[in-house]
Amino acid sequence: MSSVPRESSRWGTASVRSINPYVGGRPIAEVARDFGLDPRDIVKLASNENPLGMSPAARQALLDAALGAARYPDNDAFELRQALAAHLGVDASWIVLGHGSSDILEMAARALLGEADSCVYSEYGFVVYASAVQQRAARPIVVPARDFGHDLPAMAAAVEASTRLIYVANPNNPTGTLVSPEQLRGFVQSVPGDVVIVLDEAYVEYLDPALHGASLELLRQHPNLVVSRTFSKAYGLAGLRIGYCAAHPALADVLNRVRSAFNTGHTAQAAALAALRDQDFVRRSVELNRAGMSQLEAGIDELGLQRVPSHGNFLLVRVGDDAAAGARVARAMLSQGVIVRPVDNYGLPSWLRISVGTEAENARCLAALRHALG
Ligand SMILES: *Cc1c(COP(=O)(O)O)cnc(C)c1O
Repeated sequence: MSSVPRESSRWGTASVRSINPYVGGRPIAEVARDFGLDPRDIVKLASNENPLGMSPAARQALLDAALGAARYPDNDAFELRQALAAHLGVDASWIVLGHGSSDILEMAARALLGEADSCVYSEYGFVVYASAVQQRAARPIVVPARDFGHDLPAMAAAVEASTRLIYVANPNNPTGTLVSPEQLRGFVQSVPGDVVIVLDEAYVEYLDPALHGASLELLRQHPNLVVSRTFSKAYGLAGLRIGYCAAHPALADVLNRVRSAFNTGHTAQAAALAALRDQDFVRRSVELNRAGMSQLEAGIDELGLQRVPSHGNFLLVRVGDDAAAGARVARAMLSQGVIVRPVDNYGLPSWLRISVGTEAENARCLAALRHALG
């Protein structure tokens, strides 16, 4: 495991000290070292990355841009913001870029939350919400999940006078649950207009195309919405750290004020622009995900394991009944060169999250899972 010190420190506020440092999927090189494996034989299905990698056009743009790295990037990312605005059908003044969309989620907390404020999110909601709120020493209001997903009526009812911000992940990570456009519309209408709702759509590309515009339609009518998306998942650019959001200009303006200077690099901007223009690659990736999801679902059902129906590029699977099951099975899979994600940090210690890979990777994963279960 990582060597981040966990003991209490005299540094920082109590709220900052209560933050659990982010733990990502284990890197291939680290697992190779720890288990004495050849990195080329390791299958990583732990971080919801695109198993096809990135679009060839993005790859070329990245290589072409690499030698421009001696200069600071364009802090306003003019070209990419223009392209994203056209892609979403809004004006460029509505677009803010992030160092990954996690950066956007944190900007929202930075811009909107003070110590006296509260923020509503769901049990099993993406971990970055909790740390973003703790960084601000604001109060989290965590609403119990319903069928592993967001209980939107309960979340609306949980809003207090002090509430300034709500996070909704749709689909949610790590559970893969989805709320419908109708549920979402009812929710947005029931929340006071002075409370900002961040719709975190990191997996939107994997949804039926008919659903891609639902949040954008709501966005046009509601100046308290932020729709955040990323180049890390379907676009295959996780390592470059670039994401974005759309919001009405007044809200985009305050996000932009708390944005770190030069938060998206020159190479990331260039690759993202090329990736955005290659929607064929995104379609191929989504098709591969659909086939891979069916393959994993069938294999998991054959093993008789419980799973949560997923709308993303990953599956949440129950691998035992005891509170050590997730860690135990993940470790047994690691020793066979397959990296999946324990989710005990989400309060789901009997479960694992498995990203959808290529057909061969999924087959390796299912074989390792079967073997690990004995
Ligand atoms: C992966 C993910 C993100 C963003 O990741 P970035 O790499 O920071 O863009 C945001 N929200 C959810 C729910 C995710 O799973």
